[in-house]
Amino acid sequence: MDDTPSLLRDDCPFEPVYPSQLERGDEFFMAQAFNQALQAWRHDEVPIGAVIAHNGQVIASAFNRVESSRDATAHAEMLAITQAANTLGDWRLNHCTLYVTKEPCPMCSGASVMARVGRVVFGVEDPKMGCLGGAYALEKLPQLNHRVEVTAGVMREQCHALLQAFFELKRAQAKQCKDKIGDASL
Ligand SMILES: [Zn+2]
Repeated sequence: MDDTPSLLRDDCPFEPVYPSQLERGDEFFMAQAFNQALQAWRHDEVPIGAVIAHNGQVIASAFNRVESSRDATAHAEMLAITQAANTLGDWRLNHCTLYVTKEPCPMCSGASVMARVGRVVFGVEDPKMGCLGGAYALEKLPQLNHRVEVTAGVMREQCHALLQAFFELKRAQAKQCKDKIGDASL
């Protein structure tokens, strides 16, 4: 992972969100996850961020690092789950809430169940890959001995807008690149 400032992208049009510390509800923690997602953008990663809260405190925070670590498992949720387990000294996260800007994929939904995360709160639904109700509801498998409570749609618009803007920019850049190659070959 390279955090050299000169390598960071500076074209993210979104500002970090700083909610009041007084009311530590879902919006408060999702704002922290959102700010993590902005960090992902700066690192040229798909902007998804996650934090884990325990007793009203953030005990883990991470953003997607698939590209920089060349690791398909380096999703924000996976990194946050590992961090939280290290912080608590226990892999069981029953009393924790995982906040993530996008509905968890099959891997991260599975990891949430395996880590016994008490509750998962996400921003925007993912009807293609989301496995906590979007494409599939993994948490409802009848034989599971751990039930994850799921809340959807906290800061949905902001989380959606962020992802949409990132992919639009990427598509525009890809097109520009293609056009340039086209010009050069004329
Ligand atoms: Zn995932």
